[in-house]
Amino acid sequence: MPVRVDLAEVRRALENDELVPCFQPVVELHTGLLKGFEVLARWQPPERGPVLPENFICLAEENGLIGLLMQQIMRKAFESAPVLPEPLTLAVNISPSQLRDLSLPGQIRDAAEKAGLPLDRLVVEITESGILDNLERARKITTGLKAIGCELALDDFGTGYSSLSHLQSLPFDALKLDRSFVSSMTNTRESRKIVAAIIGLGRSLDLLTIAEGVETDEQAEMLLWLGCEMGQGWLYGKPSTADRIPQMVEAPPRALSTALSLHGDGWVVSSLEAFPAQRLAQLQAIYDGAPVGLCFLDSNLRYVSINKRLAAMNGVPVEAYLGKTVEEMIPEVFAEVEPFLRRAMKGEAIQDLEFSRPANNRGKTDATNMVSYQPALDEAGEVIGLSVMVADITDRKRTEDALRESENHLRYMVELNPEIPWVMDSEGNNLDFTVRWTELTGLNKEQTRNLGWLEALHPEDVEPTMKAIADALHSGEPIDIEYRVKCVNGGWKWMRSRGSPRVGPSGQIVRWYGSLEDIDDRKQLQEALLKFRM
Ligand code: C2E
Ligand code: CA
Ligand code: CA
Repeated sequence: MPVRVDLAEVRRALENDELVPCFQPVVELHTGLLKGFEVLARWQPPERGPVLPENFICLAEENGLIGLLMQQIMRKAFESAPVLPEPLTLAVNISPSQLRDLSLPGQIRDAAEKAGLPLDRLVVEITESGILDNLERARKITTGLKAIGCELALDDFGTGYSSLSHLQSLPFDALKLDRSFVSSMTNTRESRKIVAAIIGLGRSLDLLTIAEGVETDEQAEMLLWLGCEMGQGWLYGKPSTADRIPQMVEAPPRALSTALSLHGDGWVVSSLEAFPAQRLAQLQAIYDGAPVGLCFLDSNLRYVSINKRLAAMNGVPVEAYLGKTVEEMIPEVFAEVEPFLRRAMKGEAIQDLEFSRPANNRGKTDATNMVSYQPALDEAGEVIGLSVMVADITDRKRTEDALRESENHLRYMVELNPEIPWVMDSEGNNLDFTVRWTELTGLNKEQTRNLGWLEALHPEDVEPTMKAIADALHSGEPIDIEYRVKCVNGGWKWMRSRGSPRVGPSGQIVRWYGSLEDIDDRKQLQEALLKFRM
């Protein structure tokens, strides 16, 4: 049970050298590798419970004892430096009031040198409130700390009255995201947005971002996803006494267990390799160069972005879309697409919808679009907008329609035509007949294939027919032959077969197309005439 204390007790504790440093691991989120420790002051008066830093630190600060406190903690912490393998760092905290003391850099340098801790492995954590008190002095001290070789971290970032110009003008190397944001981040979108903005800000100013108070895998994962590099918190270790440093150093790294599975194969890792600005430029190039129309709609169905292709499809410049709603931009089809947009907003991925768009006042003719809606989820799985893909399939659609129409024409022609079309390959094998052949001869497709159709011929006509075909195959001249065919009813029918070759691109015959004509009536008439003349 933590206890409350008064000033006299704090003073006595400092005189008796009762304060001890504890060490909390700071790790790289992506790998879980230990990067260093933050030194935190601990005080447990003899025969009493521990006193929280928040209780004794402000007492010390308010009463001019903080310098003494820092020296005591630093001395003891730096004594642990020999067990701290290179390049692990040590971070110490500086209270706001200490930023008035121009001798601070010198004190820190002396303490580090005395303990043999290289200054480039020392990080000094400063809170914003200290800076705002007296900016000029803060600038001198921070510059002095940089001059002796320390790294500087801005502590508790986001809780105070941050002035972005100070952040930029003072020589910070890192930014520590306050744990209050980390703890609320997984619950509310607002804190998530703040965290994302802080991390983005840190990265754009080239500052290392360190998240404080990381307690769960979920938080670590989300931080990593948002681009944060380092983490500190109970997930990686509570502040522990110096004797436990070797154990903490030896502990296997605690890498993320689920990050990659949650966000897909390695995307998280590779996405962090490039800086956001670079990433954005790459994405923009892919976006604009895509052969399909792409846009992103927010939850109010407003265009957040649109690629050149989609804008061009509608004949309106990209800028005209931004901030406008779908209803405003494509009123002619909105009623039709709206139900699908709403479903997608509820999380359903909708693929390959076909819409025809009437000719509009932008001078376009009727168009057919193929549309897909993909809900975009934030780190917590909530739909924040839709990724839309639109392909203009007007030409394909027209070709398909035309093809279907000409196919229909052909079918009608074949059906109405009394002749029987056939197809033969360049070797003289039959490939196809219409059903009318089967109706006539009773031979089905299988029986007719290749040379099977000769079965239907009158025995006397087989040889001359084969010869005529062989001649035609050889010469490439059109076929024109007459033969008798055995009908299903048992009788014979005279038929005339005529066909022509189709020549391929390199001049060789690829197919023969032709048709059979029923010439039986004419033949019988001819025979009757012949008999009559005789
Ligand atoms: P701080 O610099 O923000 O230190 C981080 C605080 O968060 C520490 O509290 C640490 O114990 C706590 N913490 C670390 N990980 C977690 C976590 O996962 N969950 C939660 N809930 N808490 C976590 P602590 O040690 O009580 O220190 C409080 C504050 O006292 C520090 O905040 C720092 O501002 C100040 N302080 C501590 N030691 C010193 C010191 O030697 N000198 C000065 N000037 N200030 C100190
Ligand atoms: Ca700190
Ligand atoms: Ca802090």
